[in-house]
Amino acid sequence: MDLGGKSALVTGAARGIGRAIALELARAGADVAVADIARPSDGTTPYALSTSDALAETAGLIGRAGRRSVAIPADVTSADDVGRMVAEVQTRFGGLDVLVANAGIVASAPIVSMDEALWDRLFAVNVKGVFLCARAAVPLLVARGGGRIVNIASVAGKTGRAGMVAYCATKAAVISMTQGMAEELGPMNITVNAICPGFINTAMFTEVISPMLGALWNTTPDDAFDRFIRQSTYLRRDQRPEDIAEAAVYLCRADNVTGITLTVAGGAEVH
Ligand code: NDP
Repeated sequence: MDLGGKSALVTGAARGIGRAIALELARAGADVAVADIARPSDGTTPYALSTSDALAETAGLIGRAGRRSVAIPADVTSADDVGRMVAEVQTRFGGLDVLVANAGIVASAPIVSMDEALWDRLFAVNVKGVFLCARAAVPLLVARGGGRIVNIASVAGKTGRAGMVAYCATKAAVISMTQGMAEELGPMNITVNAICPGFINTAMFTEVISPMLGALWNTTPDDAFDRFIRQSTYLRRDQRPEDIAEAAVYLCRADNVTGITLTVAGGAEVH
């Protein structure tokens, strides 16, 4: 699919991987609606969330790339918010060709001390959010005669890890949902694929995973991140948001790739 003049929606696009995907889609010629919860704290996520300014900045960057954009504050766990988000895309762009379900959160805890509300929030954002977005977006894709869904999963969804049981389980669910939706929506000319990013030094690492590893290895979070990357990847380096964005654009262009999980992890996961 040529992305020139197409209409895309990226969730969790205020920063990190979502922002990079939105910008790369715009460079490929698409108009891009960007959505994010865009409030400093949701009361359950154990680290700072970004603001509506960050979301507006993403939209501004797309404008500077010469494409149309609209910034939509929306919590992907709310069916009302998601319905309003998709309706706004329809109004502003006249339709939708590409959905990138990227919004996600991370948390780390041993299973015996995992907080129940945090467990529920992880599943609400990472799993229910993907479902609600697909449910709302598919009628718009069908109205265009087909389209693309790209779900952002994780290498954590391929292999469960100590201290990360809940997060890993949510991402395994995203991979499974991707496969099921690919079969279900294929006859409607909609491809559904997932990306499994490896290790990108966004808030997920700086706020949660690196401090956890640092405490475990009795070192600083930065040192723990470097050690972790050296130990875990064939290429001995971390990945960048732009690497994931390139993969997303590939999956949007590809006409005959569906149901796959494309791993972008420097060799940290090869299955
Ligand atoms: P960030 O925290 O930088 O970005 C996640 C985005 O999702 C944020 O903009 C966040 O908003 C948004 N978000 C969180 N909750 C909601 C919600 N309820 N509704 C709407 N938006 C929400 O992390 P990344 O860019 O690293 O993560 C992007 C995706 O990539 C996630 O799905 C993550 O699980 C996945 N991933 C990341 C990896 C990594 O190494 N970083 C590795 C593997 C997968 P806010 O800015 O307000 O927090």
